[in-house]
Amino acid sequence: MGYLKWIEIEDSAPDWNLRQLKSCSANEGILFCAVVKSNAYGHGAREITSLLPSADWFAVNSLDEGLELRHYGITRPILLLGHVLMERLSEAVEADLRLTVYNIETLENLEKILQRAAICRIHVKIETGTGRQGILPENVPAFLRRAAGIPGIEIEGLSTHFANIEDTLNHEFAENQLGIFKEVLETVRTSGVSPAIIHTACTAATILFPETHFNMLRTGIGLYGLWPSRETFLSAQSNGIPVPELRPVLSWKTRIVQIKEFPAGSYIGYGCTYRTSRKTMLGVLPVGYADGYDRKCGNSAHVLVRGRRAPVLGRVCMNLVMVDLTDIPEASLEDTAVLLGKDGNEIITAEMMAEWVGTINYEIVTRISPFMPRVTVKRGSESVH
Ligand SMILES: *Cc1c(COP(=O)(O)O)cnc(C)c1O
Repeated sequence: MGYLKWIEIEDSAPDWNLRQLKSCSANEGILFCAVVKSNAYGHGAREITSLLPSADWFAVNSLDEGLELRHYGITRPILLLGHVLMERLSEAVEADLRLTVYNIETLENLEKILQRAAICRIHVKIETGTGRQGILPENVPAFLRRAAGIPGIEIEGLSTHFANIEDTLNHEFAENQLGIFKEVLETVRTSGVSPAIIHTACTAATILFPETHFNMLRTGIGLYGLWPSRETFLSAQSNGIPVPELRPVLSWKTRIVQIKEFPAGSYIGYGCTYRTSRKTMLGVLPVGYADGYDRKCGNSAHVLVRGRRAPVLGRVCMNLVMVDLTDIPEASLEDTAVLLGKDGNEIITAEMMAEWVGTINYEIVTRISPFMPRVTVKRGSESVH
C-alpha cells in the first residue's frame, strides 16, 4: 500500500447502512439525505459520496464543502446546513446549493442577487427547542411572507433538529419539539405556503421515531455504521421495532517504525509519565495527536498488532505514539498496527476509544486528519501485517 498511516473504507458498507436506515421508514417514496459534513464524519467526503448510490440528497455544513462536492461532479441536490456569509451567497446560488435560512438578512441579500433571474431554493429552519439555528415559531409567518415576496426564491423545505434523542431513554423533550414543529407546519400550510420537503430526522430519530420522518430523512452517523449512542441502541431494542444492522465503515491503521528493548525501570515519552516495570519491547508508531489520535489515549488506549492488544505507553506525541509489544514477540518492523477496527478476533471500536478519552464516537471519527490517505477496500480484504 505504501502508506505509513491510512484509513480503510469498506466499499459496500455505506450504502448498506443507508438502505438499513431507509428501511426504518414506512413512508412511501421517502427521500434520503446523506449527511456528509466534516469530511463525511472524518471518513473522506470524496470516497463516501462515491459509495452512496442510493442517497437522493447530500447535506454538508459549509458553502466550501458544498462547492467541493460539486467539484467532484455530484449533480444530486446538496443542502447546506450552516451559515453562508452574505458576501458569498451568490456562489451558493450559482452552484445550485440549497440554503438553510433563518436570518432575514439572508433573504434581503438573496433578493439583490436574484434580480438576475436566477432561482434559489431555501429550507426554512424552525427553532423548536434545540437552542441553536432556527426561527422562533412566532416569527415564522412574517419570515415566510418576506420570502414568498421575493421573485426567484422557492421555499422548498421546512426543517428542525432535535436536541435530546440520543442522550436519554426518555423522549418527552423530542416529542414536545415535534409537537411545536407540527404546529408551525400547520400555520405555514394554512398561510398558503407548501414546502415540498419536510425533514427533521437525524439518525436517532430515523431509527426511533417514525413520526419525525415526513418525506426526507437527514441522517449522518448511522451511515458510517455507528450508533448515535448506547441509549439509542437500547431504546431501539426495547421498542420492539426492527433494529437496523449497521456495519462500521472505517478502519484506521499504521505501521511499526521501530522496535527496541528497554530494561525495567526505563521511562517512556514526554513528561516521563510511564516507567517500565519489566523488560519491555517497545514499538514506535508514526501517528499522533496531529493526525487526530487523541492525546488522552496516552497510558490508556491500546492498538492491535497481529491480532493482539498492545497498550499505549506514555504520552501521545504530535506525530508518534509508543506501544508495548512485549507480549507479542512475533511483531516485526513495519507490521500493521490497527488503531481503530478489527484485527483477528480483536476489535477497537470508535465507542471504546471514545470511552478511553471521555468523548463520543462522533468526535473520534470526525477528528481524524483529512490529510490521512483514504483507501477503499472490498469487504473481507482488509490489509494485515
Ligand atoms: C449533523 C446533523 C444531522 C445528522 O445527525 P446524525 O446524528 O449524525 O444522524 C442532521 N441534521 C443536522 C442539522 C445536523 O447538524
